[in-house]
Parts: sequence; C-alpha cells; structure tokens
Amino acid sequence: MTATSYVFDPAKQASLAVKGEQARFPVRRIFCVGRNYEAHAREMGKDPDREAPFFFTKPADAALDTPCSIAYPPLTENLHYEIELVIAIGKGGADIDEADVMKHVWGASVGIDLTRRDLQTEAKNMGRPWDWGKAFDNSAPIAPIVPIGDVASITSGRIWLAVNGDIKQDADLADLIWSVSEHVSILSRSVTLARGDIIMTGTPAGVGAVVPGDVITGGVDGIATLEVTISDRP
Ligand code: MN
Repeated sequence: MTATSYVFDPAKQASLAVKGEQARFPVRRIFCVGRNYEAHAREMGKDPDREAPFFFTKPADAALDTPCSIAYPPLTENLHYEIELVIAIGKGGADIDEADVMKHVWGASVGIDLTRRDLQTEAKNMGRPWDWGKAFDNSAPIAPIVPIGDVASITSGRIWLAVNGDIKQDADLADLIWSVSEHVSILSRSVTLARGDIIMTGTPAGVGAVVPGDVITGGVDGIATLEVTISDRP
C-alpha cells in the first residue's frame, strides 16, 4: 500500500490546549447549539418554549487558545460576545442515548461564540444561512480543555462574562434548556459524532457588542476561565 500523496501539504490540524498537558486536543468540527437559555431566547425576540434544539457550525480552525488577542473581524460593525460551556468529544458515535452521553465526553471548557450580529440578523431577515454571522476566522476562542475527571459539573455552576471588568452575562448551567446529555444525544441522531468534535452549548442572556481595546473575561465555575482582547481591525 502506498502512502497517500497530496498536490500540496494538507492544512495543519486544528487543535486546542489541554489543561495540565503538553499534548493538544485535535479539533475535528465545531457544533454550536442555538438559543439554549430561556432569557437569551427572549432577548433575541423568540418565545422560549421548548422547541427542539437546533445547531450550526464553525470551521475547526476557527478555534484558538486563550488568552489571546483577536483583531476586530471584517464586514461587521456589531461584534457580539456569547459565553458558552464547551464540550469536547473523545469517543464518536451515532444515536447515542442520553444515559450514555458522558461516555463520549472527553472534557469541558469555556469559550466565546463570537458573532457578527449584524450579518446574522440580516441573514435571518432574508432567510439566508447564518454562516457569515458565525463562522469566521478566530470566531471560537476557547480556554484549555479540562479532562472530564477534573470537571466539577456540567449540569450546574455559574457561567459569566465581563467586558473591561463589568459583568454582562451571569447565569447558571442549570438554566440550560437542553442539558448536555439531551442535546448531544439529539445531535448524534443528525450526524455521527467523532472524537475531536467540539460542542458550544449556547449562551445565557446579556449578549452585547465589543469594540477594539475591550478585554473580555469569562468562565464557568469549577471548569475554566478565559481572557480575550479585541484589537484593531488590520
Ligand atoms: Mn452561541
């Protein structure tokens, strides 16, 4: 058997730091859950009834380690933060039962689902895909992944975000409309999950805009904290 050759070198494997280890977590795909906290659904003008969860994606190489500095991205004049619990999948599978989801979870962390809100809103209004609002370069800064054995809880614990020290988002994982076990099970019935997949589990209320010079801090108690600085557009 001959080794596969390519017409040019394949892209570098996307990856995230792991807390307490040199080895990195290789990122395969990034799935994001839409509207998974009632108060955020309301602030986005939606009725927070328990409609089935929905998902969107970001490219794997949108992930980057924190702390970091991110240049204000192109096309937008309304860049929003969304603090989110992050789940890292270590074992793939399809049609995973809720009771078995934790067997597939390698670790957890905290990340920001950076959003070009003006482009997302325009896409919604025009019935177009959300991608340009969500899936841009460096749109998923994520703190080092914490192996699940070192994670206090993914069902309760404070989740918060501050801009320049002012608290903007402050909620609890217990407020998730669809728990990790529930939404990972549901996701696995749409796509076959694979090790390396990352799931951003939705943001609580209080989303808002940042501008160059702002410093975002955030965290999930008992898991991780992060810091992201927004720098000038190049
Ligand atoms: Mn989000």
